[in-house]
Amino acid sequence: MNTTNKSLPTPLAAHPVQVEPPQLSRWAESTAGVAYVHERFASKPGPEVLLTALVHGNEYSGALALDAFLRSGLLPRRGRITAAFCNIDAFGRFDAAQPDASRYIDEDFNRVWSAAVLDGPGQTAELARARALRPLVDRATHLLDLHSMHEPCVPLMVTGLLPRNIAFAQSLNMAGEIIVDAGHADGQRMRDYGEFGEAGNARIALLVEAGQHWDPSSVAVARNVLMRFLVGAGAIDSADVPPGWLMPDAAAAAPVTVTHRVVARSMDFAFVDAYRGGEVIRSAGTPIAHDASEPVLTPYDDCVLVMPSVRQLRPGVTTVRFGRRDG
Ligand SMILES: [Zn+2]
Repeated sequence: MNTTNKSLPTPLAAHPVQVEPPQLSRWAESTAGVAYVHERFASKPGPEVLLTALVHGNEYSGALALDAFLRSGLLPRRGRITAAFCNIDAFGRFDAAQPDASRYIDEDFNRVWSAAVLDGPGQTAELARARALRPLVDRATHLLDLHSMHEPCVPLMVTGLLPRNIAFAQSLNMAGEIIVDAGHADGQRMRDYGEFGEAGNARIALLVEAGQHWDPSSVAVARNVLMRFLVGAGAIDSADVPPGWLMPDAAAAAPVTVTHRVVARSMDFAFVDAYRGGEVIRSAGTPIAHDASEPVLTPYDDCVLVMPSVRQLRPGVTTVRFGRRDG
């Protein structure tokens, strides 16, 4: 997408922190029974919407949107809206001098979302928090999980494989890429947990990667999708959206289906170019990276690169996905 910036001096230098982290201490105390979780009720029945931010502790654009939503006083017309700041302990360690370091404390909060892991013997900071939040995820009919990315990129709506979630993402009328993928080999994401990942029910889950973690545009995108999601879920009407939240209507690009994940085999993994995601690699067999001196080749023509990053590099971590654009 952005092919002009090919002279990054040190590819692993942290991106500048252009947005201050939110002050969230006011949300610690909660009547919902779980710290940093707040509910807004309508008198009429309706959707059980769960809005989540800080699944990764250094991705606070979504937390800024959630904080603004809670402070706005906006109430649902139907059902209940629950707002949850997830990995609040990791966020509490955020340090602008080392902004990549506070993604999690013991393990990735977004890799523990299977009954086997949640019911298992593991004892980590993230598992403790996930177990506390699990009843909220269990009851949700609509889950919006707000994330951001290591590298600058257009917004990504990560839908999983189910057609109902892809259709819901398309119905939001927001600009960006729809990424159809099965998740990670190293553990299940919250958006794929339980019935959210099963065919044959109506539960909707959407993970949005709003943009680079600390870019002001990511906050605007998170606010935009938050309100669009509430309207799409039926919790509010479009006329209820307060001024200043929405970006102009747009159409997402045709979905990109992730076909392969490139998992680093060594610490000696490097891309051959400063990819930002969205690049279309014309010919099959083109080297896009090297790993332990072996080339990493594109598997087919017109291969789309999705979320390339070596910022969390270690053996076993996904460094880029290969995708095919539908249609
Ligand atoms: Zn994330």
